Amino acid sequence: MRGTRAFLIGGVAIGGGAPVTVQSMTNTDTRDAAATLLQVRALAAAGADIVRVSVYDDACLPAIRDIVDGSPVPIVADIHYRADLAVGALERGVAKVRINPGNIGAAEKVRMVADCARAHGAPIRIGVNSGSIEKDILQEEGGVTAQGMLRSALRHARLLEAVGFQDIVLSLKATDVPLTVKAYELAAAQTDYPLHVGVTEAGLPGDGNIKSAVGIGSLLLHGIGDTIRVSLTGDPVPEVAAAIDILKACGIRRDYVNVISCPTCGRTSVDVAAIATRVKVALADIRVPLTVAVMGCVVNGPGEAREADIGLAGGGLAEGQPAGGAGSTYATGAMFERGKPPEKVEGDLAGMLIDRARKIAAEKEKKGSRANGPCGD
Ligand code: SF4
Repeated sequence: MRGTRAFLIGGVAIGGGAPVTVQSMTNTDTRDAAATLLQVRALAAAGADIVRVSVYDDACLPAIRDIVDGSPVPIVADIHYRADLAVGALERGVAKVRINPGNIGAAEKVRMVADCARAHGAPIRIGVNSGSIEKDILQEEGGVTAQGMLRSALRHARLLEAVGFQDIVLSLKATDVPLTVKAYELAAAQTDYPLHVGVTEAGLPGDGNIKSAVGIGSLLLHGIGDTIRVSLTGDPVPEVAAAIDILKACGIRRDYVNVISCPTCGRTSVDVAAIATRVKVALADIRVPLTVAVMGCVVNGPGEAREADIGLAGGGLAEGQPAGGAGSTYATGAMFERGKPPEKVEGDLAGMLIDRARKIAAEKEKKGSRANGPCGD
């Protein structure tokens, strides 16, 4: 993990080895506090740690107070060009502002925003993207480059540093995934500011998920990134699940049931997709690390899934069941639990697996709470 400065966004720690947090952004009209708050709450319920809202004119400011007061998570104000809006939002309780100091005019304005942020204990995010690099940098770099993005971000940062403000988060997002990754790698090597990582304008769900997973995921795997945002067109709530899935895939979040399942092939003798889906839904509330495997056959299944805590492999059809995997969730098979010999089973395989997995999860939870008990307990 990269060593960075550490501070708080509201009550949420960022940098300095704090857990990587998930952010999203509302797309309601901020002036409509009720609608915005509804979306903020939906994002928080989905798992967002921090939510950003646009503050784009004076009429947004009265709503900001209500949004901040009603939000279960810290609110960040996204502001362009206007120092007075940044100050107004900070005075109404936002936990962070995203503003690029180089775009707000005279040095006094930068100082005014920095002083106000300091007084309210709020960091400032400088958000550079591939479309916002200044002309002189573009000319010197010969176009949009990762180095140019970093130069732009650091130019903004210097303006805050010049007035003694260093609670800065940087983001350097591009629509191009390799360019995004390169820009963050340079930033990680050359600064100790926490990094807000994301791929901008990633597109619709689907394409956007893949671009974000590759970009954000490859950085996280190299210890780069302190807070992440997946940007998807449309309803922002799915952004949160996508971001959490990236954290899970990177091994950063482990407090959940990881259902692994084989791709199926000609040997498949149970409906792997149906069983895995049922198991995943049924165990979604569990908050201990647990790997559960659903494999299509006993020939390769137990061996391929030997790292699982518990798993089952299809072992042929029960009498009267149709041939083939599809639809066969009542079947024979082998249940295998780590450290124990495989056991022949027959019946509702999904139901049996769910029951066994819940028992193991409960044991793990008990062990965990004993381990975390008070000294001498
Ligand atoms: S576990 Fe068995 S059914 Fe599944 S892909 Fe491997 S060989 Fe095929």
